[in-house]
Amino acid sequence: MSRKIPLCEPAISGREWEYVKECLDAGWVSSVGSFVDRFETEIAQYLGRRFGVATNSGTAALHVSLRLVGVRAGDEVLMSTLTFIAPANAVRYLDAVPVFVDSESCYWQLDVGLIEEFLRGACDRTAAGVVNKSSGRRIAAIVPVHVLGHPVDIDALRILSEEFEIPIVEDATESLGSKYKGRLVGTHGTFACLSFNGNKLITTGGGGMIVTDDETLAIRARHLTTQANSGSPEYIHDEIGYNYRLSNIQAAIGCAQLERIAEFIECKRTIAARYAAAFASMHGFALQREAPWATSSYWLPTVEIVDEQFVVSARSVLASLAEDGIQARPLWQPLHLSAPHKDSPSLGGGIAQRLWENCLSLPCSSDLSQVDQDRVIEAIVKSVTV
Ligand SMILES: *Cc1c(COP(=O)(O)O)cnc(C)c1O
Repeated sequence: MSRKIPLCEPAISGREWEYVKECLDAGWVSSVGSFVDRFETEIAQYLGRRFGVATNSGTAALHVSLRLVGVRAGDEVLMSTLTFIAPANAVRYLDAVPVFVDSESCYWQLDVGLIEEFLRGACDRTAAGVVNKSSGRRIAAIVPVHVLGHPVDIDALRILSEEFEIPIVEDATESLGSKYKGRLVGTHGTFACLSFNGNKLITTGGGGMIVTDDETLAIRARHLTTQANSGSPEYIHDEIGYNYRLSNIQAAIGCAQLERIAEFIECKRTIAARYAAAFASMHGFALQREAPWATSSYWLPTVEIVDEQFVVSARSVLASLAEDGIQARPLWQPLHLSAPHKDSPSLGGGIAQRLWENCLSLPCSSDLSQVDQDRVIEAIVKSVTV
């Protein structure tokens, strides 16, 4: 079998070694150190937000952000059903209830129209806030997840957020660097959460970040992520916090990665354009589209395979690629179908389910060579013709 082509691997070929060596030489290896400060400042600057608070995962960032916008036990949180499971778990850590919202069929993002219908038709405005008439629970937050590098229609959502006074926590973990109407994703919510997990656009090995423009909330986020340490040398803590801080070594890797973010996005967009060109002449294959108001980072270029004759399915292409040593991946099981979350309410879900059945994410490491990508495309063509 020829050399394997992975789905998405990090490109560690900048100043990562140099910066990590700096940490080790200085002995600053833990959760305090100049790279943590620098990484927080540089990410905030990149996004044009006032504050960044680094965390040890994107999930941790979501957990703390949701708590700080006021999500409490028994509240409901509106979120995308078609996403990696992290935001739903974060809602559940707070003993709150996710309400899963279907995707729209054009760009596969959160369907804001369903949220509008739900807030106007199925909720009451009360002194305690917006309450779901059927469950009696308060709607405490909305979590748009910008999936696969493409933004959600965030202006439409912001209008609702303002009218109904429900805060937005953006899950921008998959779409750092992508733009909505020229403005970077991660700049719209009260908080936005990032992840620097191994296969994200930039990585720290594992890590995340909370960004916000609100100083009080940023201070609170920093406090909660450091075990709510009051800062006294006697380990006096004033509430229950979390051990959620990023280490200086991880932040050092992040600083080196961030220096190359524009290059990574360009690579991803080139890879996506090549796939799109190849699929243009293939019946039943369509790369995820880019909305006229969006600049996708194409974090994971993903194809939808819809063949009315059922000659080829996404799962058969997946198996055929695996035989050729090429790693593709289906989308996540929609959360309204996921065992730990299936008892939560949902608004639709049929489109997400269809996308789950029909889509495959394709190899897209930012250093994927044209030769390797041609091999992927040939293998896809072969999988259809056998
Ligand atoms: C990667 C990811 C996260 C965060 O993952 P961590 O591994 O905790 O950093 C959160 N939400 C989504 C949608 C993701 O894809």
